[in-house]
Amino acid sequence: MPSPEAANRPKIIAGNWKLNPPRARGLELFGEVARRVADTPAPKFYGPGGIPDVWILPPSPFLGMFHELTRGGGVPARIGIGAQDISPSDFGAHTGETGGGLLFDFGCGIALTGHSERREAGETDAIIAIKTLAADRAGIIPLLCVGESEAERDSGDMLAVVERQLAAVVGVLPTDRPLWIAYEPVWAIGTGRTATPEQVVEVHRSIRDSLTRGGRDGARTPILYGGSVKAANAVSLLAEAEIDGALVGGASLDADSFLAIVEAAGLGVSTGG
Ligand code: PEP
Repeated sequence: MPSPEAANRPKIIAGNWKLNPPRARGLELFGEVARRVADTPAPKFYGPGGIPDVWILPPSPFLGMFHELTRGGGVPARIGIGAQDISPSDFGAHTGETGGGLLFDFGCGIALTGHSERREAGETDAIIAIKTLAADRAGIIPLLCVGESEAERDSGDMLAVVERQLAAVVGVLPTDRPLWIAYEPVWAIGTGRTATPEQVVEVHRSIRDSLTRGGRDGARTPILYGGSVKAANAVSLLAEAEIDGALVGGASLDADSFLAIVEAAGLGVSTGG
């Protein structure tokens, strides 16, 4: 049984565009999402001022443009923009990196850390912890991605792997600093294979327990699911009180698909095409 508090956690939907799309299409997509997401205040559960609950995480060249659009007032305040990655360093001689100070200045409210595509590119738990601290230092909420490979699930190591990935961050980030989690089983990312609601709930409960054991407020931590979330499976996943939203890759590149997921989360969307 979810606690009454758990049942009150508002849903959050974040679209991770990865290295897509080209400039003109990106502007069009952002414009369409901004036009069709209901312009109602975001709930205040996760932060006193009301934190956005629909997030777009584009490739970094879009950030400046989207920041200007959001500052211009034509974008509902409940839409936030975020970064897919963050440098461990704030500023300095770090060619090719983008640090938290700049990401913050260009309007990023959240930053992914530990996405499996970056873990596959060589990022260790230690680097991910440093990047998570860098986000926090800049005033950006880290959205830490954790999740097991298919082999780790099959061998029964799933919960231990997720626990290890979490512990690397929970062990260094002060407990009063915000931390959001995305559970993303690697075998479900970009594969069209989605974890069942039961599989997700099992891991989310374990994550929430680990957070609480680590001194954090597990019951007030948003834990999103990611892995081939589409309009068709979003309703059953998001109906679970344990699943606080979705991190959406492929389906976030199509406005209708993304907005159907936003709608499945109970966040308002206009039907106008
Ligand atoms: C992701 O990249 O975080 C993701 C969940 O991708 P997809 O929805 O395409 O599986």
